[in-house]
Amino acid sequence: MLCQAASKMAIKVIVLDPSENCPASALAYDHMVGSFDDSATVEEFAKRCGVLTVETEHVDVATLEKLEQQGIDCEPKASTIRIIQDKYLQKVHFSRHGIPLPEFMEINNLEETKRAGELYGYPLMIKGKRLAYDGRGNAVAKSEGELSSAIDGVHMVIVTWDWRILGGFGRGLYVEKWAPFIKELAVIVARGRDNSILCYPVVETIHKENICHIVKAPADVPWRIRKLANDVAYKAISSLEGAGVFAVELFLTRDGQILLNEVAPRPHNSGHHTIESCYTSQFEQHLRAVVGLPLGDPSMKTPAAIMYNLLGEDEGEPGFKVAHQLIARALEIPGATAHWYDKPEMRRQRKMGHITLVGPSVGVLEARRKSMLREEGYENR
Ligand code: ATP
Ligand code: MG
Ligand code: MG
Repeated sequence: MLCQAASKMAIKVIVLDPSENCPASALAYDHMVGSFDDSATVEEFAKRCGVLTVETEHVDVATLEKLEQQGIDCEPKASTIRIIQDKYLQKVHFSRHGIPLPEFMEINNLEETKRAGELYGYPLMIKGKRLAYDGRGNAVAKSEGELSSAIDGVHMVIVTWDWRILGGFGRGLYVEKWAPFIKELAVIVARGRDNSILCYPVVETIHKENICHIVKAPADVPWRIRKLANDVAYKAISSLEGAGVFAVELFLTRDGQILLNEVAPRPHNSGHHTIESCYTSQFEQHLRAVVGLPLGDPSMKTPAAIMYNLLGEDEGEPGFKVAHQLIARALEIPGATAHWYDKPEMRRQRKMGHITLVGPSVGVLEARRKSMLREEGYENR
């Protein structure tokens, strides 16, 4: 989607990705096959770029720091990626900057975890510090008796095609107090090279099994909450260095507090709706920011939008069949746009594409989204 936006602005994108037939390779000006986790590869790649940016935070940041010292322009800055790629360090950083967060603490053994459980109560959220995405790397213990299995079990993370097991204390874990949220919200924040900052409208994100499933824009919350969410997001991004778009994931609690969950230093699933619903999409905005063009208008040009992720329903062909049915159904709906990422392999729960609906109100769009799923027998999704 970055490549699609780049072609409109005559920006040439060179992509570094380990997979020969990665989706971007068909759209990019050039594709270097290699790992963004390998120092020599990243150095060779960087020499070919005017500006280096990321669309995942799980990259070799030590090499980016070294390259920055040699004058390579990395946006956002390597210091930002270093803070964000370690979720514990991220929490330490934001708490030092006075950003409201769920309470958290590092854990190195079962005794410390039990103490954390006594302090924070249950359910207790246990998280891997690094390589997390789509909730892989998180585990919930409902009671002290579940701590040990939670710590060992769930920390399986895939980065591209590479499985890594993050279980156990050796790989770095921390705990968070359970956030009793009534809604999850997100704000995309853009910062230009001149340090100008613009916020996109606050959206509501709905997760299923830890994976972002639906995004509703704008979020149906009182004005005061929107303002608070914007203020927290603005303050969080002001504490980081470099240009680009950033996504700020937030919890809205019953008592009207906004707590920061985490930040992504790149375009984000909660901003995909902006392609159709905003004057400047998050992808165009990211490119404008990193190359030093003026930031565009982030406001919505439609009253409302809903984004629905097409998650893999099944492995292989059966999964593709379901996705095709849903896309065909979606395209009967006025104001619907389908996005298919053309990932080479279909896997259960994998983000394969998304559908954006734009229209007069979130309520109307939600009814349209539900009718699309009902026809196909997926009403519970
Ligand atoms: P991604 O990077 O794909 O957004 P992740 O793997 O980094 O996901 P988190 O954002 O840490 O995972 O958590 C995933 C989801 O788990 C959150 O969106 C939220 O629904 C739930 N969650 C996370 N932390 C807490 C918490 N402290 N209390 C309650 N729920 C939480
Ligand atoms: Mg994350
Ligand atoms: Mg998250």
